[in-house]
Amino acid sequence: MIKCCEEHVDVAIDTIVDEYEVAPKIDKISVDNYPELFTTCEYCEKNAVYIVSN
Ligand SMILES: [Zn+2]
Repeated sequence: MIKCCEEHVDVAIDTIVDEYEVAPKIDKISVDNYPELFTTCEYCEKNAVYIVSN
């Protein structure tokens, strides 16, 4: 599972596809649905907006 900003969602998708060879599932993060996951992007310092998982 990768948490990322809008800008890096493509990188995250590529990473999941490379690693698991499946189409990733993409969820939008908000403080309402994932308060514990409201965090920064894994690739930069911005707030994460998406969770990409296999
Ligand atoms: Zn980013």
